[in-house]
Amino acid sequence: MRPLTEPEVRSSFVNASPEELRLVALPADFMLTDWDHLDFLAWRDPRTRSRGYMITELDGEPVGIVLRAADGSSRARAAMCNLCHTMQPADQVVMYTARKAGEAGVHGDSVGTYICADLSCHENVRLAAPLAPNEVRASVDLKIDGTRRRTEAFVGRVLETAGARR
Ligand SMILES: [Zn+2]
Repeated sequence: MRPLTEPEVRSSFVNASPEELRLVALPADFMLTDWDHLDFLAWRDPRTRSRGYMITELDGEPVGIVLRAADGSSRARAAMCNLCHTMQPADQVVMYTARKAGEAGVHGDSVGTYICADLSCHENVRLAAPLAPNEVRASVDLKIDGTRRRTEAFVGRVLETAGARR
C-alpha cells in the first residue's frame, strides 16, 4: 500500500470519536513499516490493549477504523479468524467490534467479527510462503488475496450507512 505519514494515519479514521482519536497510539515500530509489503495495516494499541486499528486502501484512499476487543473468550478449544481464515487456539481469536461511521455509529450501530487477537492476519497468511513449493505457494497467494478482500469488505461494512443493506 502507499506509505502513510503519522498525520495521514490519524486522519484516516472514519469511526473514531475525538476522544478515541486523541488516544490512538501508533505501533512502536511505525517508522520501520514496510509499506510495499503491506496490503493493509493493523495493530493493537500498545497502551490500551482492548483497542485495535485497521487501515485499508479503498478506492486508493486510506480508510482507518477503530476496533474494540470484546472481553472474555469462548470455551471452544480452537477458533478461526474471519479475516485470514487461520485456525488458532481459542484465546488467540477475539471478537472485535467497530462502531459504524457517521450517523449510524452515533446511533450505536456497530459491526463485529472474530479476528486474530494480535491482529497479525497479514503475517499469518504469509508464514508458510517463502519455503513453500509452487503448488503450495499458489494456495498461499489465494489466502493473501482473500485476507485482503475480507479485510476491505469488513472496513466497507463500517462505512455502510444504516439500512443500506440487510
Ligand atoms: Zn487473522
